[in-house]
Amino acid sequence: MKVAVVTGASKGIGRGCAIRLAKDGYAVVVNYSHSDDKALEVVKEIEAFGGTAMVYKADVSDLEQVKKMMREVVSKYGQIDVLVNNAGIVRDEFLLMLNPNTLDNCMDLNVKGYFYCAQQAVLKMFRKRSGVIINISSVSGKFALPGQSVYSATKGAVNAMTQTLAKELAQYGIRVNAVAPGFIETEMLNALPEEKKKEYIDKIPMHRMGTVEEVAGVVSMLASDTCSYMTGQVITLDGGISL
Ligand code: NAP
Repeated sequence: MKVAVVTGASKGIGRGCAIRLAKDGYAVVVNYSHSDDKALEVVKEIEAFGGTAMVYKADVSDLEQVKKMMREVVSKYGQIDVLVNNAGIVRDEFLLMLNPNTLDNCMDLNVKGYFYCAQQAVLKMFRKRSGVIINISSVSGKFALPGQSVYSATKGAVNAMTQTLAKELAQYGIRVNAVAPGFIETEMLNALPEEKKKEYIDKIPMHRMGTVEEVAGVVSMLASDTCSYMTGQVITLDGGISL
């Protein structure tokens, strides 16, 4: 059975990806950092349709915790075939109000965390000379929204790392791609004030937010052999807002 590790899978897009990959037949590792009950619910939901999954609590911005997680996943399931780098945070602050902690927190999770997980997963993928990494980026990586310079910078970094790692790892049979969603209905966005949400929706040509299932569908396709010749790509999924 192929094995997929999804970071930040207790909620939102990560949860959707974990459920979809389990439906595709992967044994899924539901990583999270705080929400024990929600992560367990995801595993229960997967097991209810006959899928295989385990929870793994680890802060992916901490290299030692990531090393331990990947080691324990391999000792339980024997291999890692797919990594979905998803755990991320959004913090909106204008430059003049920028708190250095915001910068550190966003960089630590959205950039360093992605590198730590990619490095430790690739160490396991080498053996089989195959593997897939899917980085969840954001349309903010290339589309400017005032107040999002830090978040945008982290997602721009994810896009750049996706391309470079794709080139570096192709020789080992490892593909690296990214998905750049626009506005997707999750807790992250539900935290926005209603009038702000409406303002964003008005700007989306499709006049609605996306769903986690729509993001998970693209992740599923990128993980599959349908995309066996695709690497280094950033797929935008945003209802047309970046056009
Ligand atoms: P979310 O609903 O806030 O969920 C975030 C997930 O990450 C949770 O499962 C959380 O688990 C986990 N997490 C947070 N810190 C962690 C850490 N240090 N280590 C491990 N897990 C951690 O977020 P989302 O909206 O689904 O966003 C997921 C990804 O999609 C992010 O990279 C985000 O930038 C990107 N994205 C989202 C949107 C959107 O519209 N929602 C759009 C574009 C891109 P715990 O609660 O257990 O800590």
